[in-house]
Amino acid sequence: PGTQLPFDPSKKTLVVLGSGWGATSLLKGLDTEDYNTIVISPKNFFLFTPLLPSVAVATRYITRHKARQVSVIEAEATSVDPVNKTVTFTDTSPLQPLSPTNTLKYDYLVYAVGAETQTFGIPGVKEHACFMKEVGDAEEMQRRFLDCVETAAFPGTSEEEKKRLLHMVVVGGGPTGIELTGELHDFLEEDLKNWYPELHPYMRLTLVEALPSVLPMFSKELIQYTERTFKESRIEIMTGTMVKGVTPSSVLLKPKDTPEEEVDCGLVVWAAGNTLRKLTRDLMGKVGEQVNKRGLVIDDHLRMLGAPSIFAIGDCTSTSYAPTAQVASQQGAYLARMLKLIAKRDALENKLEQLTTAHAEGEATDEATTEAGGIKRKIERIKLKPFHYSHQGSLAYIGSDKAIADLPIFGREWASGGVATFLFWRSAYLSTLFSLRNRALVAGDWMRVKFFGR
Ligand code: FAD
Ligand code: NAD
Repeated sequence: PGTQLPFDPSKKTLVVLGSGWGATSLLKGLDTEDYNTIVISPKNFFLFTPLLPSVAVATRYITRHKARQVSVIEAEATSVDPVNKTVTFTDTSPLQPLSPTNTLKYDYLVYAVGAETQTFGIPGVKEHACFMKEVGDAEEMQRRFLDCVETAAFPGTSEEEKKRLLHMVVVGGGPTGIELTGELHDFLEEDLKNWYPELHPYMRLTLVEALPSVLPMFSKELIQYTERTFKESRIEIMTGTMVKGVTPSSVLLKPKDTPEEEVDCGLVVWAAGNTLRKLTRDLMGKVGEQVNKRGLVIDDHLRMLGAPSIFAIGDCTSTSYAPTAQVASQQGAYLARMLKLIAKRDALENKLEQLTTAHAEGEATDEATTEAGGIKRKIERIKLKPFHYSHQGSLAYIGSDKAIADLPIFGREWASGGVATFLFWRSAYLSTLFSLRNRALVAGDWMRVKFFGR
């Protein structure tokens, strides 16, 4: 790190893994004067997942505007050693750097690497389905989607093939699957219908969910509202149906009470939830307290059990909270405040240690003894409060300019769905975006789509 940042030996080294919701929220609040701060992430940008596929904004914008320089290393952490307190990372750049792998020591590690998409090892998913987790996934999905449309429009394509190509299947009725289905519906109805009116009768959209209903985290009336809206929009919802396999041209479905059936389709988008990254599983395997757990187990100060120098936040953890941006960003903001107090406590402890050493060597004066007493009292006064999550509500876009919202207002749950909720959804996310520039760009994009299409 010495060549990367103004390394100050009197300060502790704080390494942050990731540049997503948790890490970015931490960096926004962190007083970088307190630490030698190093961020390691394979992405040099922050992905605003609620607006995937359309928005990617820069992490460097945040780190560049801090009081003291933060070193950002574009690399993937490949292993964490919680005993020797080191992180090993690899440059994944296609330029093939001379020394692609490196190791650095940390005093504190903020572990915020998120999760990846769960496939349950179901045959054909990795090979043939699209995902909706990263910018690259969204681009790939757009490309394949438009490929299906162009091929269907190609002169001579049979009726049967047109039907297959224009049947889009989304797997997973959680918020990701629902929002994606809503977006696909809008694209088909608002744009493709005008570009290819002759193909419109062939377009079909199906959402498959293994559980008896979609969106289990929303209130019953909003689940019913979503299902009704989808039906009105001619979106087929197949609940109680498990996807058992994906081929290049079909999905294998197993409805609860009927035999398996193979359904032809042009595109499968997989949104069946999260699983841990290999890095996280490896780390958990090194710490007795973490073995066989669903995610990193943390205490109420977000410290990893069995490795208290590691703070873990966001989707890589196993807590009573849902894996959402809301939770990760509140944890990041909390940690920034805690790290301020921890830096203060560490500096006082350091001073106390110096005085204690002087005392042991017989060099202590009366003033030094009084000073030591004062420092001890100051240390005792530093209280690290536990993390407390404040739920601001659940929001989701369901297509056709409609959204749903479950909001806690004055201690009561308030459920709402429709066009007005959609406007609220937009304003809520617009205000969450970092920087005025991004807000202006996103608002501009929305206007452009409204007036000129996608
Ligand atoms: P992430 O934001 O995923 O960040 C992880 C970071 O770690 C990334 O920067 C990644 O590049 C980096 N990383 C990965 N591997 C390594 C490695 N080996 N070394 C170093 N860095 C690494 N939640 C909501 O509350 N509201 C929403 O509207 C919402 N919409 C969503 C829409 C979509 C399409 C998706 C996929 C999710 C949505 N979520 C939403 C969930 C939300 O995005 C996650 O809960 C949130 O991103 C978790 O934050 P995180 O910091 O734990 O992980
Ligand atoms: P999820 O885990 O919430 O939903 C995945 C769904 O896929 C589940 O309902 C599961 O039953 C279903 N499923 C799994 N395997 C299946 C199979 N083989 N066949 C059919 N169905 C199958 O995942 P998500 O929607 O990606 O959400 C992940 C997290 O991100 C959640 O905490 C969610 O709240 C959050 N998120 C929030 C928003 C929002 O607030 N608007 C948007 C996206 C994601």
